[in-house]
Amino acid sequence: MNVRQTDMGALLAQPYDYPPDRDFSEPDWRRIPGFREVAERDWLDARWQRRNAVKSVAALRRTLGDWLPDELADSIFRDQRERATMAMLIPPQMINTMNVEDLWNDPIRRYMAPAFADRDREWPSHPMARRDSLHEADMWTVPGLTHKYPTKVLVELTTTCPQYCGHCTRMDLVGLDVPQVTKRRIEVRTKDRYELILDYLRENRAVRDVVVSGGDVANVPIAQLEDFCLRMFEIPNIRDVRLATKALAALPQHFRQSEVLSGLERIARRAREREVNVAVHTHINHANSVTPLVARAVRALLDLGFRDVRNQAVLLRGVNDSLASLLDLSFTILDRAHVIPYYVYMCDMVPNSEHWRTSLDQAQRLQHDIMGYLPGFATPRLICDPPYLGKRWVHQAHSYDRTRGISYWTKNYRTSLELDDPAALDLRYEFYDPIDTLGEEGQEYWRRYVLEHGD
Ligand code: SF4
Repeated sequence: MNVRQTDMGALLAQPYDYPPDRDFSEPDWRRIPGFREVAERDWLDARWQRRNAVKSVAALRRTLGDWLPDELADSIFRDQRERATMAMLIPPQMINTMNVEDLWNDPIRRYMAPAFADRDREWPSHPMARRDSLHEADMWTVPGLTHKYPTKVLVELTTTCPQYCGHCTRMDLVGLDVPQVTKRRIEVRTKDRYELILDYLRENRAVRDVVVSGGDVANVPIAQLEDFCLRMFEIPNIRDVRLATKALAALPQHFRQSEVLSGLERIARRAREREVNVAVHTHINHANSVTPLVARAVRALLDLGFRDVRNQAVLLRGVNDSLASLLDLSFTILDRAHVIPYYVYMCDMVPNSEHWRTSLDQAQRLQHDIMGYLPGFATPRLICDPPYLGKRWVHQAHSYDRTRGISYWTKNYRTSLELDDPAALDLRYEFYDPIDTLGEEGQEYWRRYVLEHGD
């Protein structure tokens, strides 16, 4: 324990002890009944991992055997029918990073296989929750290209991932239909869509920065990804490109495949030749996800010449919403895997996400509390993403009604929706705290609101 001498001679502990007290080894998958007979060759094979991803509660039961309590399995099953906005898809690699001895409280289980009992009974959804809560599709200038910021765009090359996160902010678009949600479809053929996207980038000289996402770029066939990237690098205004993949932590085996590495190597080389910065952004929410296999996958990307691998976590209650878990996550990705802690997003206001979401107040306290431990370049920024606005650091709220849990935010640019709206920069944009975190007066306000307006 780190201590400090006081005037009185007493020794006081720091609020956080570095280094994190954690083992760094690949958990032995053979401890899990469904993986008992799996040879290392298969475990390291991305195709085996994809084929054996858990897609149902029945498969989860078969995989985890007696480790999965019946009440938890029943609760996950009920959740799938009544609350879940994402289909179940969990690669064995992710199952293997769960604490199978306490699955109710395991952080990875809590966001990858949510249970009905995890959710807030009275307020599973905030009345202001929306399917496409960031209005990304409203800001599509061509199908799958969101132009929200003046110089940056988001390109969704695919609508699938090798894993589906329960809290996915793109639940409107990404993944398979589930009982609660019929997903939005992009009607334009993929090949035609990519042409439209490239045309848009050519025609809009103010766009210099492209986030290539989805979905997960690990689900874009590597030849397609390479072709798209190489053609994009030919566009003179494109200076920064980030490829987004959670698979780096959820399915690191993908980045061991020789054809994938060869394609990525050519992408990194051409980017260098064209003086385009190309980085990889990943999504790791908990230190338990970082294993030697993940670290080796990151190393391979850095060795190929990707400028950085950065992490964009999502702040989730019961997963990583404490000083210790955020700093454990940050130090583990930085020290063990050379991933830069970059952003920690507050969970967006999508339906049935209330039990994961945190108040702005809590996010601000966490930002305060993590300062000073990590190098400045690797101290993650906690981010709020108010609808119709875009990312803001959590301390940038213009004002904050703590009773009703409404924060107000201002904007300094126009999105593609407001290019002819003179009032857009004078408006206040709202973000809402989870109602169960409010006092009685605030909760009563929202009960009355629902009676008057419906939810
Ligand atoms: S990896 Fe990203 S896009 Fe895919 S389900 Fe998870 S949060 Fe959504």
